[in-house]
Amino acid sequence: MREALHFEKLGGGKVRWLLCPHRCSIADGDSGRCWARANRGGTLFSATYGLSTSFALDPVEKKPLYHFMPGSRILSIGQNGCNLECAFCQNWRISRGGAAEEAVNPQSLADSARKVGSIGIAYTYNEPLVGFEFVKDSAALVKKAGLANVLVTNGYINPGPLEELLPFIHALNVDIKSIRDGFYKRLCKASLKPVQETLRIAVGKAHVEVTNLVIPGENDKDEEFEELADWLATNLGPDVPVHLSAYFPAYKLTNPPTPKETLSRARSIVAKRMKYVYMGNIAGPEGRDTVCASCGKVLIERHGYDTRILGLKTDSTCADCGAKNNIILKVKQS
Ligand code: SF4
Repeated sequence: MREALHFEKLGGGKVRWLLCPHRCSIADGDSGRCWARANRGGTLFSATYGLSTSFALDPVEKKPLYHFMPGSRILSIGQNGCNLECAFCQNWRISRGGAAEEAVNPQSLADSARKVGSIGIAYTYNEPLVGFEFVKDSAALVKKAGLANVLVTNGYINPGPLEELLPFIHALNVDIKSIRDGFYKRLCKASLKPVQETLRIAVGKAHVEVTNLVIPGENDKDEEFEELADWLATNLGPDVPVHLSAYFPAYKLTNPPTPKETLSRARSIVAKRMKYVYMGNIAGPEGRDTVCASCGKVLIERHGYDTRILGLKTDSTCADCGAKNNIILKVKQS
């Protein structure tokens, strides 16, 4: 265990963790609701520091990131714990904690990435922010080695720690699970506003893409897609890629899977305000390719995770009309 960052002592051996909007107060001997924090003797520790549950070399498109180093592979690491409790969690075996762990050393991550031809490290599968100290230490070393750091997150973090971490992060995929706060309260035991704040802070500081998991009967009404598109276009801008993902019954939720027609309908609504809208977690070519936002020419063609860059120049302009598109082809070294 490693002593935690961003906590305060409350007296009587109690501490409060200030990283996450839940601001849990944790008694001596107890753990936080995210499973990744432990109070021992009135000091808060990261209970998952240097321990991973999942490790895989994935296509970057699987994160999903479609506009960041398309066609590349990224070494992805997961840990136990999450600060949300989504009834539909696809990764509940690790997000709920208690999964088997293996030791992993932040110093070795950059080397491992190089060895397997990875562009860097993705912190994903569970909620990486509940392992803040490990992610920050690892990301600093990975960046120093000239590699990329990718965060796949629910965005549930307070602004201060987020601003501290962002200088090490090159790209994020942030879930916006619904544009309705009630959905977050009912199905995730959390709230919407902190996620919106995270998106506003992150856009412009790193490459951002967003994911919305479309669940039949929960967040699939036309007006919700319209509100989501309005909020994204107004607060983040129309260039941020949007992934509309199909849901499948998992963990506690038994709603039927998302029909393709629902995703197509959602895409046609969101695409009225956003330039790049994709369909994910569903078979078929629809909503896969990246087309130039100006002339509609196919820039990147995708078949499953087979990605081909066709009409894109190295400065991310369209080879046909010359328009600049929001696509990162190489990691900026700073
Ligand atoms: S935020 Fe993600 S990992 Fe956490 S409970 Fe929800 S779906 Fe699972």
